[in-house]
Amino acid sequence: MSKVLLITGASRGIGAETARLAAARGYSLCLNYLHSEQAANELLQALTDGGHQAFLFQADVGQESEVEAMYRAIDREFGRLDGLVNNAGILERQSDLVDMDPDRWRRVFDINVIGSFLCAREAVKRMSTKTGGDGGAIVNVSSRAADIGGPHEYVDYAAAKGAVDAMTIGLAKEVGDQGIRVNAVKPGLIYTDIHAAGGEAGRVDRLKSNVPMQRGGYPAEVAEAILWLLSDASGYTTGSFIDVSGGR
Ligand code: NAP
Repeated sequence: MSKVLLITGASRGIGAETARLAAARGYSLCLNYLHSEQAANELLQALTDGGHQAFLFQADVGQESEVEAMYRAIDREFGRLDGLVNNAGILERQSDLVDMDPDRWRRVFDINVIGSFLCAREAVKRMSTKTGGDGGAIVNVSSRAADIGGPHEYVDYAAAKGAVDAMTIGLAKEVGDQGIRVNAVKPGLIYTDIHAAGGEAGRVDRLKSNVPMQRGGYPAEVAEAILWLLSDASGYTTGSFIDVSGGR
């Protein structure tokens, strides 16, 4: 049977591109989305038209009951799990920290941090060789913002990705003897809709002159790194990070 992969936030951007590449590499997919139903349906249609196995599941990754229901659907549909890409993420409008409120911080941490923790927990339960699983791989989609800090834009988002980095290191150590590898990619400035959510759709083009490679990156370039970390080719790599940021 083909390997089974859950990709959160698969309806758009990096998640959708990761889904296309994973399907091409033979994975069976659970594609999670929240609001973008039409985009998710179009992606599913394209994949199934191409003969790939996939199903959609609408869930807010920040909600425990919804994440648990999504994993039960994977259990029913495929009866196994080999990988998780913790990709779903949000940022809010660019702002100094002094002008932010706790409701915003809670939203940012609920989805970027609690969502990644919840999905990782349910994946470990199913993949751990200690509980009858066959092992597997988790790839967290962090951000170079965790290292740069996101000043005047979104220090909260950067801090949330810092928490994801710490989880990557700690969980990799916890489950290293359970057949599960945990790694992260750290994208830089990638052309997706996330920048419009921050209030500046043209952000990548404004900042690309600060990138040593003098350009923004593409979702497919991030997807390649994610697929490598999921694959057996990275079999001795855990608790590691790949910057996909053109050197920035
Ligand atoms: P995007 O185009 O805005 O896509 C975000 C995806 O996350 C969408 O599929 C969205 O689904 C999903 N999502 C948001 N909230 C969700 C929730 N509560 N539950 C489930 N799914 C949810 O963003 P992107 O740039 O591809 O970002 C993907 C990941 O890369 C994020 O973790 C982001 O932080 C990270 N990243 C991006 C960049 C960049 O420059 N683009 C840089 C560094 C890191 P719906 O639309 O269906 O709601």
